[in-house]
Amino acid sequence: MNFYSTNNPKVQVPFKDAVFNSLPQDGGLYMPVSIPKLSEDFINNLDKYTLPEIAFEVAKNILAGSIPEKDLKAIIDDAINFDAPVVKLEEDVYVLELFHGPSLAFKDFGARFMSRVMSYFLRDGEKMLDVLVATSGDTGGAVALGFLGVPNTRVTILYPKGKVSPIQEQQLTTNGQNIRAIEVDGTFDDCQALVKAAFVDTELNAQFRLTSANSINIARLIPQTFYYFNAYAQLLRQGKSEVVFSVPSGNFGNIGAGILAWKMGLPVKQFLAATNANDTVPEYLNTGIYQAKPSVATLSNAMDVGAPSNWVRISHLFEDKLGDLKKLITGYTYNDAQTLESIEAVFAQYNYVVCPHTAIAWRALKAWQLHHPESKAAGIFLSTAHPCKFPEVFAPEISTKIVVPASVLEMEGKASLSVPLGKGFDGFKAWLLGNG
Ligand SMILES: *Cc1c(COP(=O)(O)O)cnc(C)c1O
Repeated sequence: MNFYSTNNPKVQVPFKDAVFNSLPQDGGLYMPVSIPKLSEDFINNLDKYTLPEIAFEVAKNILAGSIPEKDLKAIIDDAINFDAPVVKLEEDVYVLELFHGPSLAFKDFGARFMSRVMSYFLRDGEKMLDVLVATSGDTGGAVALGFLGVPNTRVTILYPKGKVSPIQEQQLTTNGQNIRAIEVDGTFDDCQALVKAAFVDTELNAQFRLTSANSINIARLIPQTFYYFNAYAQLLRQGKSEVVFSVPSGNFGNIGAGILAWKMGLPVKQFLAATNANDTVPEYLNTGIYQAKPSVATLSNAMDVGAPSNWVRISHLFEDKLGDLKKLITGYTYNDAQTLESIEAVFAQYNYVVCPHTAIAWRALKAWQLHHPESKAAGIFLSTAHPCKFPEVFAPEISTKIVVPASVLEMEGKASLSVPLGKGFDGFKAWLLGNG
């Protein structure tokens, strides 16, 4: 399978180049030149397969010969070694728990798969890979833990000062070894702008073999399709075959993967794009006017993205036809007060604790179901992170109900190794060159 640039469909590269380039030189994003349809037989019998089996089948089809099957299977079995259970909360309301990986967020799927794919392609003694990644919280931890100790790689993580939670900060700043963390005096968009500027800087590219681990990397996106198929498999086992997915969205990689899964034949009735106050996409779906904005800080900080990078991929899947897009995707936006209310409502109704991102997806699902009382579809909202990553958000009676995983307790007391920098590109560039 080759991958094209969304800025110029004539620019086409093999998977390996798409993974290591991360972004095409023209500033577009890579997408597969064709999207394979999985067989109806496979889709209808998904309930007979395990998550790694589903992941292998999906990856084999979309990568189509890019990695020999035996190697691909080994990569998947190593990367996708934790569960993604669908838990029923009430009739037709289910939560897909995506936080059972090492960094306790759904980004573990993308980061673990990508790190292993890169390491696989690096086998034949190539130049050390420098991974640059901007994070608004969860990416950093997933990438740090995904790459920690992977030979011939080095990771530099940029995160916005004061805008990530203590557990997130520990996950990205305490690793040492081949992981470096930079605390940027700015927003996530500033961090992302620094990474983007580095990729087009001639001097840095001459010195380093740069790649990105953000959700813009196609190797992050592909493995996120796996859990949509696997969620559907779990519904089939409960006798359900119609589904609505509600996805807490920031940079739109997660929902983008869901829409890719739909393109591959997964029968999804509706996607709900649930955002916090950073409502660029819901506003576009309502008004037809796409207007990227500066990001604003919210309680669901992993979704504080005003200019979602992956939106261009989703547009491409619909050939920019707004009418078709609106048939499949409905946008919802909620502020911090509504987020807190939703956390409390979920706890009161189900005795279940959701993180602030997940709470927004739950609320969007309930709103959609209220307006579609005729629908027989099962609603699944995606739980993108474990609530223990955001302890400051919860009222005491809720936070005491959160069971903190052992991996978090082990990190406590470890020193931060992060480097503070301003948001100017020159300072970042000088630091990279001085710490080569
Ligand atoms: C990254 C993240 C999101 C947003 O996902 P996108 O793919 O950027 O839309 C939502 N919730 C949590 C907890 C995250 O870490």
